[in-house]
Amino acid sequence: MTIAFLNGEFMPLAEAKISPMDRGFLFGDGIYEVVPTYDGAPVGFKGHTARMSDGLSAINIDNPYTPEQWREILDTLVSKNSTHFSTGNIGIYFHVSRGADVKRYHAYPTGVTPTVFGFAFEIAPPQPTNKQSAKALKVALEEDKRWQRCHIKSTSLLGNVMHFQAGADAGVNETILFNSEGMITEASACNVFMVKDNVITTPPLNHQLLPGITRAIAITAFKNAGLDVKEDWFSKEDLLNADEVWLTSSSKEVAAVTEVNGKQIGEGIVGPVWEKAIRAYHAYKFDA
Ligand code: PLP
Repeated sequence: MTIAFLNGEFMPLAEAKISPMDRGFLFGDGIYEVVPTYDGAPVGFKGHTARMSDGLSAINIDNPYTPEQWREILDTLVSKNSTHFSTGNIGIYFHVSRGADVKRYHAYPTGVTPTVFGFAFEIAPPQPTNKQSAKALKVALEEDKRWQRCHIKSTSLLGNVMHFQAGADAGVNETILFNSEGMITEASACNVFMVKDNVITTPPLNHQLLPGITRAIAITAFKNAGLDVKEDWFSKEDLLNADEVWLTSSSKEVAAVTEVNGKQIGEGIVGPVWEKAIRAYHAYKFDA
């Protein structure tokens, strides 16, 4: 049994109980984060706590902890759970919901205490650094049917869940999304990059996509390594005609995609730019 954190206390996950009146349960009224750690070292911790603060202030919940306190909770969850997992690849999930009210009423209540939850789970090992050993992903492609505030890392994830399920039903790993103008936004749980003629492009940040921490680390890492990277919109046709397509997320790092909607991308194998990109990412990720 793993050890979880709930409202200031560490306990076996099965003993972590909340009220069904919690607004996280009733409305999805909360913010969450996932921080990857490798042998105890987190990746992008500063970015994750800053994004959580932004999300909480966007929905008027006071952040219950300082970054230093979040770090202490993270370190304790990692150390209390390290013997449970067979590897040192541990993801830490943090969740702050508005808390439990006595009635179900949409407006933000006053005087409720936020519910704070954290747990640990095993994540994939770091990506290999050569393309022959990398796992290639296949993805579906769908019109983005989510809300207009995708920059907020909200626990209201039904739109993302439905898009991800469409990919799962099609037997693939993820679903890449395009907006009503046919421009790529992100994937159901990842950001998207494409490569054409050695130029790496990812959509710019706005309300249509999450400001991924891995995305931000990757952009800086690629620039540091002298790779040509830009933030610009690209269409689903551009995506299908790209030389390489990648997904980024805290659990996937930078992952290569070789098939979109049944169409082979480039030569249908993990590409040479990905290899440079993942080496650049690994060289920088713990400094971010
Ligand atoms: N976009 C969405 C919708 C996500 O849910 C996620 C991660 O959960 C990402 C992008 C990638 O974000 P990060 O790199 O911070 O994990």
